[in-house]
Amino acid sequence: MPIKLLAPEVVSQIAAGEVVERPASVVKELVENSLDAGASQIAIETGDGGVSLIRVADNGVGIPSGEAELAFQRYATSKIATPSDLQGIATLGFRGEALPSIAAVAQVEMLTRTAGELVGAYLSLRDGVIVERGRQARNPGTTVIIRHLFRSVPARYKFLKSKSTENSHITNLVSQLGLAFPKVRFSLSIDGRRVLHTPGNGSLRDVVAEVYGLGVAQAMLEIRRADKEDAALSFQVRGLVCPPSLCRGSRSGLSLFVNRRWVRSPLLARAVEEAYQGLVMEGKHPIAIIELTLPPQEIDVNVHPAKVEVRFHSEAVLFSGVCRAVRHSLAELMPIPNIKPGTDSRFPEQILKGYRQAEIDFAPSPLSTEEVHRSVPILRVLGQLASAYIIAEGSDGLYLIDQHAAHERVLFEKILAQRARREIEVQGLLQPLTIEFAAREEELLKSKGENLAQFGFEFELFGPRTYLVRTMPAMLQGRDVTGVVKEVLDLLAGGGATDWEEKLAISLACHSAVRAGQVLSNEEMHELVRQLEQAKLPRTCPHGRPTMVHLTSGQLLKEFGRG
Ligand code: ADP
Ligand code: MG
Repeated sequence: MPIKLLAPEVVSQIAAGEVVERPASVVKELVENSLDAGASQIAIETGDGGVSLIRVADNGVGIPSGEAELAFQRYATSKIATPSDLQGIATLGFRGEALPSIAAVAQVEMLTRTAGELVGAYLSLRDGVIVERGRQARNPGTTVIIRHLFRSVPARYKFLKSKSTENSHITNLVSQLGLAFPKVRFSLSIDGRRVLHTPGNGSLRDVVAEVYGLGVAQAMLEIRRADKEDAALSFQVRGLVCPPSLCRGSRSGLSLFVNRRWVRSPLLARAVEEAYQGLVMEGKHPIAIIELTLPPQEIDVNVHPAKVEVRFHSEAVLFSGVCRAVRHSLAELMPIPNIKPGTDSRFPEQILKGYRQAEIDFAPSPLSTEEVHRSVPILRVLGQLASAYIIAEGSDGLYLIDQHAAHERVLFEKILAQRARREIEVQGLLQPLTIEFAAREEELLKSKGENLAQFGFEFELFGPRTYLVRTMPAMLQGRDVTGVVKEVLDLLAGGGATDWEEKLAISLACHSAVRAGQVLSNEEMHELVRQLEQAKLPRTCPHGRPTMVHLTSGQLLKEFGRG
């Protein structure tokens, strides 16, 4: 083909592809416009995962009737004017791309009115072109209605996930914007159901209650200024962080806002997690709402078309400032963690040290032929060490078995075998347990409930976002069922269609297994070791950590100077 300039329709669809990835991106752009317009109330409605309808109505300043058409032209914006304005962006939008991009891939209607005018301006667009204009009554503010998203872009339409997945993206987005703007009243209705409603009273904790439930909201710790040194810094860290006990199996509870912009920032995420180091198990992540305020000149927000990434001028200072602020709130409100038997901490520090030492000094020897054959030899239990390890003797020396990891392995294989035979052992709850879900979790429960049912969970709607657990897998008896259910929902949210069973089984096994710190009777140890001998892969737990350390007879002889 000869080289030619692309037709304007093609150009605008290509550009739209960057800004409008999925229905939630449309909601994001429209709501950001409402926020930039100073709205204190924003009502969002969607239908069919946002594909058939997205409607955003605000009470912001509106657009003067003479400018409404211009808003749909590419690079038309009221937010910046000169190149130097790019150095200090104080609004969420500034690229002047959102409305034309959306109009390129959907049908759009807009009704807007400023306080200074008596009636509103109405516009309707098809394929980015205005097909109707008029005047209509409205209170000051703006309503934008989007229909048939991506109908004209089959390539994009095909890539949309299920309606429930798109709904959960939208719910998550509105939750995040709600957390960023506690003074704004957000309401979100999905297919006519009210999913989220923030009070708009300025209290971040109240928004957290709406998003994560009352229990979480009450437990959250406030971030205060870390120390005197920070007073001299140009930025401020505020927000709420959860106590270590509420940390969860996924990173979805981490919300980062920079000058009220919801951002992805691996740097800030690491700073927050670093503050929890030593207080939570590996693989657990906090629920944290971190609001960073800094002079607009110190960040660059113009690095990503959907404006979800920012660049910081002084990364190191920010990293340590955020980490210190979070750690300070954790330290102030919690006693220094003292490992007590029966707590969740898997490895008391001194044992952990000893364990690592053992691994280094006596690296598991290559498997003997017998071991290859049997994988673990028949073991004779000698006793328990530090309420965490079983000491056993095998045909070739000493075995130190991590009771939690070993039990995890056994339970993991057991539940997968039961599942394969469709014979999950379930436990009915005579006194049903109630679980309160966050908005996003409830959406997940609706979309992934079937997966949970296949593992023996049965839920029944009890009240607003509150469910009764009717049955659960029997192995969870006496365990933190709420914690497991929430963790499993998180896992299912992130996962593809293929490995969910394994993930779910790992989580169930991990929560049901005996913990370090639990004293085991001789019989219990025998039973566990016998089951481990019969496991298909007895040498690692389902997370891949070793279940045992082996000290061969040869190594023993050598250590005692007889080898
Ligand atoms: P940007 O937000 O980057 O300026 P947009 O395409 O999103 O670009 O919007 C173009 C312009 O339309 C904005 O600069 C603003 O002046 C106006 N506008 C859009 N939505 C609203 C709204 N809800 N209320 C008031 N003005 C709006
Ligand atoms: Mg915008």
